Amino acid sequence: MASFEDFLNKAKDLAEVATQKTNDVVETSKLKYSKMQINTQVKQTYERLGNSVYLMKKSGNFNEPLLDKYVAEVDRLLDQLRKADQKIDDINKVITCPNCSSRNDRDAVFCSKCGSRLRRQEGETQE
Ligand SMILES: [Zn+2]
Repeated sequence: MASFEDFLNKAKDLAEVATQKTNDVVETSKLKYSKMQINTQVKQTYERLGNSVYLMKKSGNFNEPLLDKYVAEVDRLLDQLRKADQKIDDINKVITCPNCSSRNDRDAVFCSKCGSRLRRQEGETQE
């Protein structure tokens, strides 16, 4: 029969697992919130880019460096979004399908929804 001490140890283990899960949920929420903010910035930058192109076309004065600046800003933000998604996947121990965006077990080789080969982690070679 399990001793009271065993029982306490088991309860402690369960509590630690629960705490870790709570931390994961909090971390995922933070990442999702920051993704929302980044998405807003992406939209604003697209708007500025579109507005600038419109004004340049109207006036005939093209300001390439300004457009380059906005394009670089969008690229930077999209990269941040990818990194946030990667972190969320890591926390939840999943891998996102590059084809249909469905989440699969981290160790899966093919997507369970569309059957596409799932991209492996950086550094791993594709067979
Ligand atoms: Zn898929």
